[in-house]
Amino acid sequence: MEQPCESPVPDYGRRLVNWYRQHGRDLPWRRTTDPYALWIAEIVLQQTRVEQGWPYYERFLHTFPDVYRLAAASEAQVLKAWEGLGYYSRARNLHRAARRIVEEHNGHLPADVQQLIRLPGIGPYSARAIASFAYGLPCAVLDGNVYRVLSRVLDDPTPINTSRSRSHYQQRVDAWLGRNPSAAFNHAIMDLGATLCTPRNPTCDRCPLADVCTARRNGTIDQRPLRVSSTVVRTLWMEYYWIEHPDGRFYIRQRDESSFWKNLWELPRRDLPDFEHHPPSGYEFCRTVHLLSHRELRLRLVAQPYETFEPGPSDRLIYRREMNEFTFPKAIRNLLEAFDRCRPTPRLF
Ligand code: SF4
Repeated sequence: MEQPCESPVPDYGRRLVNWYRQHGRDLPWRRTTDPYALWIAEIVLQQTRVEQGWPYYERFLHTFPDVYRLAAASEAQVLKAWEGLGYYSRARNLHRAARRIVEEHNGHLPADVQQLIRLPGIGPYSARAIASFAYGLPCAVLDGNVYRVLSRVLDDPTPINTSRSRSHYQQRVDAWLGRNPSAAFNHAIMDLGATLCTPRNPTCDRCPLADVCTARRNGTIDQRPLRVSSTVVRTLWMEYYWIEHPDGRFYIRQRDESSFWKNLWELPRRDLPDFEHHPPSGYEFCRTVHLLSHRELRLRLVAQPYETFEPGPSDRLIYRREMNEFTFPKAIRNLLEAFDRCRPTPRLF
């Protein structure tokens, strides 16, 4: 295998910035230098595709146009604005951070990476992104797209998911940044990873780094970036209950603080070790599967008679039309949609 290309390091950054000025994507958060708006964009876009996050970004800013309005909102209002986007801890952390920004920083996001990292929900990537996009500080970002571009151009076999990956690749991207303008450089390298240097079938013939891409020359593009297998996906079996009052209302339940979907709403539930050895405790309407980052949720919806159900302190009876007043995880909305498709006749049970 050939060694990584010996091109002068600053050349990568300059090429990327020049390419970005001609081919960069026009996205709403690139038309502003407002630190608050850029912060919201960074958090919305964590683990979210641009097309999915875009309307949420605009709606969130419309609902909470500045950090004071966000800090003054209730958690339920913030979760409502986030409903459907998933990873609700992001919304809770935004809310907590907004209060800290108002109380400790006079309503201004700090122009300092270390101070940004101390705020809830802001990690090294987001802090560097905000610092470069809002304040022009010389910080290079490292996200999935950047790992892919770096490991391919350098044909670097260092895995990207070990404890030393971050510092290893951060050194390399810092060297690429050099004296280039950090905002344009960061947009450029992330755009290259998102649009041309894609995980499968990269469009190398339009890539500004094609002639210096070592993985391309070595025929190892499909093996970069390298990952060591570590993710264990846990399967959870959750039996939900449809408990309907004769007037059409049904029971919902608020989750507690101890697990995922904290404080969101669902139906009364019991967790099971599996479905195979635990038959449904009533008529089964439907099943769905929902994937979270480290969990596979297997859900089934089962009828339970209203008369014998004993509600707990977090149970509420609501009409279907009132559902929008509560925040439900997408998995529960999907389960109820499946229910609507398969429900035999109203109030049969
Ligand atoms: S040449 Fe191909 S593999 Fe190399 S950086 Fe460009 S798009 Fe990625």
